[in-house]
Amino acid sequence: MALTKVWLEQSDCISCEACESNCPEVFEMGDGECKVKPEAADPAYLGPISEKVKEAAAACPVECIKFEEV
Ligand code: SF4
Repeated sequence: MALTKVWLEQSDCISCEACESNCPEVFEMGDGECKVKPEAADPAYLGPISEKVKEAAAACPVECIKFEEV
């Protein structure tokens, strides 16, 4: 299934950098916190890398990466 949206529960993030390592297309560390890159707001960008994003979400130690899929 293709992702249409991805976001972080920022207050739960422990800035471990795992998601940036696992999927740098979407996640990046900046100023000590993790962010979703602006281009990841576009479903056309997100769709082809859906599995990689889901794997990064599964690997997040505090499960704060959320997504919607169709
Ligand atoms: S893997 Fe999870 S806890 Fe670690 S930086 Fe990414 S969102 Fe934050």
